[in-house]
Amino acid sequence: MNQCPRAWALKYGFIRNRNGVFNRHLHHISDWSPPWRLMQRALRGLIIERLQYFSRGEKWPAKELALRLRHRIIGGLAIQKNTVDIVETRLRDSSKLNRKIPEQEIDRLVEIACNRFHTAIESKPIASILNGSIKEWFTCSRLDKTKVDSWQLHIAPDLVWKQGRTWHLLRFTVQGGEIVTPFKILEHMTMAIWAIERPGLPMVAERFTVETLTWSRGFWHHWVERADSRIVEIAIQMIKSDIRAMVDLYKRMGPLCDLSQLPLATNRRTCRNCGHIDTCPGGEDLLRARLEQSALELTKATTKIGKSRQSNQPQK
Ligand code: SF4
Repeated sequence: MNQCPRAWALKYGFIRNRNGVFNRHLHHISDWSPPWRLMQRALRGLIIERLQYFSRGEKWPAKELALRLRHRIIGGLAIQKNTVDIVETRLRDSSKLNRKIPEQEIDRLVEIACNRFHTAIESKPIASILNGSIKEWFTCSRLDKTKVDSWQLHIAPDLVWKQGRTWHLLRFTVQGGEIVTPFKILEHMTMAIWAIERPGLPMVAERFTVETLTWSRGFWHHWVERADSRIVEIAIQMIKSDIRAMVDLYKRMGPLCDLSQLPLATNRRTCRNCGHIDTCPGGEDLLRARLEQSALELTKATTKIGKSRQSNQPQK
């Protein structure tokens, strides 16, 4: 939401239309990702698949690694091709999303992902699971939902394991910064909310650590922080305030779903990786669109003040 409230509202605010029907096209357009991000998704998927092979006691087909990564990246591009076709049919024009990805670019992404995969497998805690020193563990799906008030949230970790009395909750962040900001710490603490709600796990925040394995500047960085009830409560409040912001944003559009009321991205780079680039004024010229939006807001506010002054004037 911080990067672009409009993209965020389009992604989460219209998942179901007024008749409760799933808005599949909008979901796919909002989910559009550049090849680099598809590579990251493929890598995370393969790391989890490697662990699942191990838990089933099946032999990992190591020689197929590059092939599997390529298959996932090309599969992701094929799904997006359908999305781009739909966008172009609606636009009756070619889309900015329609970029030809050269074969060498895919080769390069596969090579990068293979390298990151091998180093991830040798890092803690994956290496400890594969060599048997961590015995109690399981993987989770990010689609797993947790109820907070009346909202269903996706806040699950990717991997959970137990060592001593502590339960560890970890997310693979296949690309990120080395420094974990206070905001990110709260975001990671939401894993503890998931864990406390999950049957079979302790109900006390102090029994968990939240962790991330993040690729940054050529290395995997393992970040660990112990949870406690106070910080988990702050994380819950952060979620609630985000939900309130989402509801406010939704109300701001009014009954006609006026998208022009939604704030745009602050950085042009965000637009370059956004599926709405063809239809959003920010995708055309972000700076101009932001200026136009501010001018419109100013005009609206001035008209409002003018009307209220008129109504307050004594009748002659
Ligand atoms: S094109 Fe830019 S401003 Fe428009 S929704 Fe996408 S990220 Fe936001």
